[in-house]
Amino acid sequence: MVNKRDRGWVWGMAIATFLFIFIALPGKGQNPEIPLPPLKNHPLPPLLAQWPINAEAGDYFENIQPTAAGYLLWSQFPVKVYIDRDKTECQDRFRDWLNAILAAVDAWDDYFPLKVISDPENANIIWQCQRPTLRVRRDRDALIIPVARNAEARYQIYSESPESPALGHRIWIQLSPHQSAADTQATARHELGHGLGIWGHSSVETDVMYGRQTRQNPVISERDLNTLKRIYQQPTRLNHAQN
Ligand SMILES: [Zn+2]
Repeated sequence: MVNKRDRGWVWGMAIATFLFIFIALPGKGQNPEIPLPPLKNHPLPPLLAQWPINAEAGDYFENIQPTAAGYLLWSQFPVKVYIDRDKTECQDRFRDWLNAILAAVDAWDDYFPLKVISDPENANIIWQCQRPTLRVRRDRDALIIPVARNAEARYQIYSESPESPALGHRIWIQLSPHQSAADTQATARHELGHGLGIWGHSSVETDVMYGRQTRQNPVISERDLNTLKRIYQQPTRLNHAQN
C-alpha cells in the first residue's frame, strides 16, 4: 500500500496531470468555418535530435496521450520557463522550492533547450508555489473531495489570433513546497517532463516519469529520453512560429 502522501502523488500523476483542454478555436456563432490546422512535423531541438535512441532500453511512448491538437510539442527553442515569485504559500520554503525547479531545469537542459525568463507574458511553462487546487466534483447527492496532491501540470491550448487558426499552448505547474527538499526536486523533475510534452507515465520505477513517488527519486533515464524523442518525431497541430 502507498501512504497518504504517495496516494496523493498517484492521483495527482494519474489523473490531475491530464487536465483541461481549452481549445480557443472560434466557437458557435463566431467563425465556424475556420478548420483545425493540419498536422505538421517540426525540427527537433538539436540536443534531442542528436540523442541516440537505444532500442534495447526501450520507451513508453505507447502511454503518451496526444491531445485534440496532437502531441504537446514545442517547436520554438529554447522553451521559456517562468518561476512565479509569489511566496504566499511558500514562505520560508521558497528557497528550497526555487532550487528544486532550477535543478529540474538544469537536468532537462542537458537534453532539451530551456531558459528561465523573468516575464510571465512570454513564458511557455509557468511554475507556481502552491498545493494543487482540490477540485470538488459531485456524485449524485454527495461531493467528492480529492486527496491532496503535491503537484499538478495543466495545459491550455489557444488560438494565436482571431484571424488565424494557428494554435499555441502553455503549461502551468503547481508545485507544493510542503515536501522534503529531495522529494520536491524529484517532483519538479517529473512535472517538467510533462511540461516538455511527456503527457503520460512510465510503468518502470527507475524512469523519472514513473507514475508514483519512489524512495530513490529517479533521474532522467534513457527510456525517458527515448520517449521524449519519439514524441518530438510526431506531427502536431500546434505551431509556435508566431512566438
Ligand atoms: Zn506525472
